[in-house]
Amino acid sequence: MKTRNFILFVALIVLTIATNAQETEATRILKEQNKEFEPEIFKFGDNVWFAVGHDVSNVAMIEGETGIILIDAGQSPVSMEALRLKFREITDKPIKAILITHGHGDHFGGIDAFLKEGDQPQVWGRSSALGNNIGFNLEANAGKEAGLTYANARGARQAGIILPDSIHINNGIAPRPDKQRTMFTRGNETAAFSPTHFLKDQRKQIEIDGVKFELVAATGETYDNMYIWMPDQKILFCGDTYYKSFPNLYTIRGSQYRDVKSWYESIGKMESENAEYLLPGHTRPVIGKDKVKKVLTDYHDAIKFVFDKTIEGMNKGMTPDHLVEYVKLPEHLATKPNLMGYYGRVDWGVRSIFNGYLGWFDGNPVNLNRLTPKIEAEKVAEMVGGKGQLRSNALTAFKEGEFQWASQLCDYLLALNESDKEIIKLKAKSLMEIAKTMVNATGRNYMNSYAIQLLKGLEN
Ligand SMILES: [Zn+2]
Repeated sequence: MKTRNFILFVALIVLTIATNAQETEATRILKEQNKEFEPEIFKFGDNVWFAVGHDVSNVAMIEGETGIILIDAGQSPVSMEALRLKFREITDKPIKAILITHGHGDHFGGIDAFLKEGDQPQVWGRSSALGNNIGFNLEANAGKEAGLTYANARGARQAGIILPDSIHINNGIAPRPDKQRTMFTRGNETAAFSPTHFLKDQRKQIEIDGVKFELVAATGETYDNMYIWMPDQKILFCGDTYYKSFPNLYTIRGSQYRDVKSWYESIGKMESENAEYLLPGHTRPVIGKDKVKKVLTDYHDAIKFVFDKTIEGMNKGMTPDHLVEYVKLPEHLATKPNLMGYYGRVDWGVRSIFNGYLGWFDGNPVNLNRLTPKIEAEKVAEMVGGKGQLRSNALTAFKEGEFQWASQLCDYLLALNESDKEIIKLKAKSLMEIAKTMVNATGRNYMNSYAIQLLKGLEN
């Protein structure tokens, strides 16, 4: 097929799927989450401004005696330049310090927009549990040192970079980045960025330009996460330790184990501050002492429940497949809007906890010597009456709306013939149908991106 015809063909499939039938309940719920990123600059007290929805992550500006202090610096220098100009309508005081809550590129990638003002501010971060500066942004740096690049391809899928607007809703806790903006300018060049000052202890009190801060070690999404507590204003900047979604205990782009036990312990520390304002790295602020307390208690309890129940099941000898059926959030937590699986998902967290402590072997000796996918597929085909019957079963499953089963049968058929065009198309269409039923944005984006890549692969 000629390239232009092929692009039209992919566009047609995407369009058909995007407009096909009515909007699902999952789609409606995920679209509602877009309200969390509507651009707004909140003001708390006399001197704290908090910008939501101006980039994929939130950024704060605090006015001191003679200068300003920023908390986080967004992902994109282009969107941060626009925010810088908005902040400059409020004050023209020079930048004294930038406090980075954690070493993910979406929280420091846009820093050049501020550094170019030339004030040479202190830049604070936390060195991770490893106790050295290399520990900042360990997640990206470890892969880089290993020569691993595939996590980038998976990351692009979960972010839905290649998706047309018609099937991309958001990234769960973040809006879709503007395609015109330069993404991850610093994030991709992690070696080029390092804070100038580090939190190396559990808690450190600092005063910058007459404003008191406490930097507190709070491992969660990353080992270098810290929260920033302003004791006088009772404001807590928590980075990505809390946001309005079930937490991403495991990221499907892939990373080292995220320390789930430390995560709920960090939430416990945050609760004990008795904050009036909880300002997260993503989604809208939580305002009011009682509300903050309730949200954090639920968050703590949900993570601790998943952790404890998973360990309990592991001690009974359960495999990850059993555990995901065993570990379900109790009703009073499962129904909380701030614990919906827009971004993280309970079952993925459960699998990650298992893997974090016991590694890949699930404990079932059958899995120590599995048949290869091709041999298994040959035996399954033989069992159902031949490859033709297996193919017919896959097509029937799709027609009957059993899209997961259809995609699994496609995998058998592709193990037998990886260039079977009809089955590649059927798998892509199944994935796109499954995506429509998912509230989880990263999983949904991954499915749709993977499907489009399958279809594009047919071109060769
Ligand atoms: Zn983030």
